[in-house]
Amino acid sequence: MATVKDFRVKEKPTWCPGCGDFAVLSALQKACANNGLEPENVALITGIGCSGKLVQHFGSYGFHTLHGRSLPSAQGVKLGNQDLTVIAAGGDGDGYGIGMGHLIHSIRRNIDLTYIVMDNHIYGLTTGQMSPTSKKGFKTKTSPQGSTEEPVRAVETAIANGISYVAQAFSGDVKHMTKIFQDAITHKGFALVNTFSPCVTFNKVNTYEWFKDNLINLDEEESYDPTDREKALHIMHEKAGMVYGTIYKNPRPVFNEEMLGASDIAAAKLDLNIPLAEKRELL
Ligand code: SF4
Ligand code: MG
Repeated sequence: MATVKDFRVKEKPTWCPGCGDFAVLSALQKACANNGLEPENVALITGIGCSGKLVQHFGSYGFHTLHGRSLPSAQGVKLGNQDLTVIAAGGDGDGYGIGMGHLIHSIRRNIDLTYIVMDNHIYGLTTGQMSPTSKKGFKTKTSPQGSTEEPVRAVETAIANGISYVAQAFSGDVKHMTKIFQDAITHKGFALVNTFSPCVTFNKVNTYEWFKDNLINLDEEESYDPTDREKALHIMHEKAGMVYGTIYKNPRPVFNEEMLGASDIAAAKLDLNIPLAEKRELL
C-alpha cells in the first residue's frame, strides 16, 4: 500500500518560505495515502498561479493546464478514465476569476472529482494585485485607494447552484485540512474545498494570525447540520464566510455514472448478440 512518501517528489517546492500552499501539498499527500490510493491511480490537474505549481511537487499523474482551465481538463480526464481519482487545484484568481464559468457548470454537471482552491485573496505569482476574493477596501498595486468591489462568494454560489459537497479548510490547521481532503475525495460527485492559504509575501492583511483570529471551526459546533442547505447559506452570510469545516454535504446523482448507464443502454440496443426481449427491458 502506498504511503505519504510515495506522493512526494525529489524536487523542493519553489514557493516562498511560509506560503500556505505548503500545507495544502502536505495535507493532500497525507489524504491520498490515508484514503488508500496509489499514485498511479491519481491525476492532479492544476491551473496557473503559485498554486498551479502543486502538480510539480505531487507524486502522481498530472497536467499543468491553462489559466482558469483546470476544471474542463479534469472533467475530460475523469470521463476518459473513470477509474482514476481526479483532483483539480488552483488559486482564487484562477478559479474564481477567469475560471468562474467552468466552476458553475462543473457544479451543475456533478462529475465525480475534487476541486481545491488555494484562496489567499490576492494574485501572488504576478506580485500582488487585487483578486476576485480581495476584501472591499484592500489596498494593492491595482487598487491603491482600496478595492471598491465586493469579493466573489464562491461557496454561497456553489450551494445556490446545487453543489453536493462544499467545505473550507485553513493552512494553519493541516490535520483538519487532511480530514477535509479525505472526505472530499471519498465523496461521490463534484466536491469543492476552498482553502484559506495565506500569501505571506504580498498579502500583509489576511495573514495566518488574521485567519486564526477570525475563523470559526464549524466541525466543532455540535448543533451545526451540514445537510441543511438553508442553514449552510445562512451561516456563510452571518459569518461573512469566515468559517471552516464541512459547510454543506448532500449527495445527488453523479454525471459520469448516469452517462455511463445511458451509453451502456445505447450500446446494448445496437448489440446483435443481445436478445430482443432483453433489449425491451432496457428501454
Ligand atoms: Fe505563496 Fe505568495 Fe510566495 Fe506565491 S508569492 S509562493 S502565493 S507566498
Ligand atoms: Mg490568489
